[in-house]
Order: sequence, then C-alpha cells, then structure tokens
Amino acid sequence: MVLHEVDPTRAVENPPTGSLGSRPGDPHVQDFLEGKTGLVLGVANKRSLAWGCAQSLSNAGMRLAFTYANERLKSGVEKLAAECKGSIVVALDVTKPEEIDSAFETVKTEFGHLDTMVHAIAYANREELQGDFFNTSKEGYMLAHEVSAYSLTACARRALPLMKGREGSIITLSYIGAERVVRNYNVMGIAKAALEASVRYLAADLGPRGIRVNAISAGPIRTLSASGVKDFNDMIDHIAETAPLRRNVTAEEVGDTCLFLSGEHSRGITGSIIYVDAGYNIMGI
Ligand code: NAP
Repeated sequence: MVLHEVDPTRAVENPPTGSLGSRPGDPHVQDFLEGKTGLVLGVANKRSLAWGCAQSLSNAGMRLAFTYANERLKSGVEKLAAECKGSIVVALDVTKPEEIDSAFETVKTEFGHLDTMVHAIAYANREELQGDFFNTSKEGYMLAHEVSAYSLTACARRALPLMKGREGSIITLSYIGAERVVRNYNVMGIAKAALEASVRYLAADLGPRGIRVNAISAGPIRTLSASGVKDFNDMIDHIAETAPLRRNVTAEEVGDTCLFLSGEHSRGITGSIIYVDAGYNIMGI
C-alpha cells in the first residue's frame, strides 16, 4: 500500500515554505542574532548556498562581512550585500595568504569581533569532475584540497582571536561524496573527506576556547559550482526519486540550519556533520 505518494518533479519545484530566516521580518527570528557579526565566504550569486546562509543570518539581525574571490564577482557580491543591513564586502581569494590576512584585518577594524564564520567555498578543475578518479593530476588534487579543505583551517586560525570570549561558531559546507562514492565527484569527494576530518580536529582544538565547529552536509542544489560536476542533473533526479522526503533541498533550508548552528539553540553541538539532504543519507538499497 502506498501511504504517501509524491510527484517527484512537483516536490522539487515546490519545496515546503515557512523557512525561518529566509523571510525578512519573521517574528520568530527577528533580533535573534542582533549585535552579532558574521563572515560569509562563498557568495558567487543568488543561487549560492552562502547566500542562503547570509539571508538567514541577516534576517535574524546579524551584521555580515562578505568576500569575493575575484574582481569579476565583486559588483555582484556588492549588490547582494546591499540587501543585508550594515554589511561590508572584502576581497578574499583563499589561495593568497596575504589576502586572508587583510580580509580578517578589515573585519577586525570594521566589526571588532566575530561570532560566526560560514565557509562555503570549493574548487576543482572541471575536467577532474568527470571520468576516472585515478586520472586526477597532482596539481588538480592539490588545488582542490587547498581551496576546498585547507582554507577552513587557514581561516579558522585567523578567526580565533576575533572570536575570543564570544562563543563563536564556525560552519562549513560538505557533501555526501566525502563518505561514499558519487560518480564524477572524484577529487572533490577526497577534499570533502579532508574537510570533514578538519571539522573534527578543529572542534577538538577550539572547543576549550568556547568555539564550535560543524559542517552541513547538503543535498545537491543547482549552483554555479555544482554545474561543474558532470551529469549533475541526474543526481538531482535521483534524490527526488529516492530520498525519504522525495524532493531536493533548497539553499534556504541550508541557510536555516546555518542560523541554528550560529545561535544558542545549538550550543551543545560541535564537531558534527549535520545532514540537510531530505534524509538521503540514511538510505541503503
Ligand atoms: P557557488 O555558488 O559556486 O559557490 C562556491 C564559491 O566558492 C564561489 O563563491 C567561488 O568563487 C568560491 N571560491 C572558489 N575558489 C575560491 C578561492 N580560491 N577563494 C575564495 N573563494 C573561492 O557554489 P555552492 O554550491 O554554493 O558551493 C558552496 C559550498 O557548498 C561548497 O563548499 C560546495 O562544495 C558545497 N556544497 C554544494 C552543494 C551543491 O549541490 N550545490 C552540495 C553540498 C555542498 P568563484 O566563483 O570566484 O570561483
């Protein structure tokens, strides 16, 4: 007997509404993070998961610093940042240590302190997100790890003095390809495994200083980076057919989990990988 039949296409197109932070002025979360500050790395455009996080945090009253990785993206990020009250925008390509230093210096000067850092960046060469994993070049492997995994540690180290005495929260974005083989995800899966291990080691280091570190493992969402993974649309269709909720998730749902992980309701959680994937991770055959 079919108890709960959902048309997968409709479910993807019409995810449930009612998200917490994604509605400006929501009385449930308004002022929830008033007086707090956050740094959000990885807004490329409106579809970015970082933008979903930024909206949830900003609508709850958090003041945000946004980063852009190159001049091409600067004006787009500035336009989006203008929608978030009191925000600033800084240059930050994580492959340039001097740029990481100066971005954190600017945050220190402008905000004085930091409560949340959202790390939502990743990069791998497009040709290595398809075909056989064993063909990954050393350069491609190193680059994927530098941008997608090491940068969390590099930024956490700089965030540390700004979070002193403030019960800070560091949040990164991962994917189930860290733990299981996902066709074409290849080197990015290895980098995400390193990222998730970094979350645990950082959580152990920073916990005694009152700072929590967690990852959100999101289901596939159509973004600029995701379009680089070959046959990404097949992944989206597969989730809609097989995940317990019979749909894909949205950047707003990721954003609301980021809001939860930034606030006091999650104060007992650190070193965890939180799945926002419509339940897909629990499925076997
Ligand atoms: P996105 O909108 O394309 O965001 C990726 C961001 O990473 C872009 O802003 C990009 O800037 C930035 N970036 C790349 N190289 C950088 C560098 N050297 N320095 C600083 N920033 C750099 O894609 P997204 O899907 O939202 O990705 C955000 C995070 O979510 C990533 O960690 C991704 O792996 C993760 N995630 C995504 C999905 C999904 O299905 N979309 C699922 C699970 C996890 P440029 O555009 O300038 O390169």
